[in-house]
Amino acid sequence: MNLPKRVAFTEVGARDGLQNISQFIPTEKKIALINALSEAGVPYMEVASFVHPKLVPQMADAAEVVTGIKRLPGTKYLALVPNTKGAQRAVEYGLDGWGVFVSSTETHNQRNVNASIAETIQGFAEVVRMAREAKVPVYCAISMSFGCPYEGDVPPERVVSITGKLLDIGIERIVLGDTTGMGNPHQVEDLTGRLLALYPAMSLSLHFHDTRGAGLANVLAGLQAGATWFEGSVAGLGGCPFAHGATGNTTSEDMVHMLHEMGIETGIDLDKLLATARLAQE
Ligand code: MG
Repeated sequence: MNLPKRVAFTEVGARDGLQNISQFIPTEKKIALINALSEAGVPYMEVASFVHPKLVPQMADAAEVVTGIKRLPGTKYLALVPNTKGAQRAVEYGLDGWGVFVSSTETHNQRNVNASIAETIQGFAEVVRMAREAKVPVYCAISMSFGCPYEGDVPPERVVSITGKLLDIGIERIVLGDTTGMGNPHQVEDLTGRLLALYPAMSLSLHFHDTRGAGLANVLAGLQAGATWFEGSVAGLGGCPFAHGATGNTTSEDMVHMLHEMGIETGIDLDKLLATARLAQE
């Protein structure tokens, strides 16, 4: 196997993970979790979402969290900034990256943000302009990249086409999200290979779910196809919004363990990450 010596890693537990927990987690507990992840050396971390608190009540304290955490130089702190209102708030907090999101299927995108895929991408242009002004890079997650509970199979050509449009408007990194864990290693290898062949200079991250237990197998398939950036959630925080009780995001400590055992560096201290996983479980 021709595998990278090192990969980048984004920890999404404090945002994607907590967002799927209906019980409100007190601000100081969120801050303690984020600080512990920073101490573990996580290189990239989503820490908040600047969305309307009515839509995502768990993220209502985004400003308090972002100002309350201790930022370490080894970690880049990211937040979801899906529209210009969110961007206006995010500008104040000096984040290291802004995330936006679109779905690969019209049905899920309509249900999620009440707009077509084209309208959603158009809406990003202004966020990208504001990010340029603030000198912050913008990444975009394409959810349902490997299958959709509403539409079933997602043709890889469609994800390739959406990626092209996002790169055209100045999005700096694309995250392929397997939002409901429908992806299999063959698909991952195929789509990752297509994208990197077409856009060799692009920055690409892979975000898997363990809904059907395929998370780590998909990581390996991504590695084999040339991917060098993965996302995970500490303690597997966050379930699946479409299947109550199902496992969600691929667990960070499992992924980091596998990568390290394979001789692939992440820069993360696994012992500290495991201690943080116990904190997260509490
Ligand atoms: Mg997720």
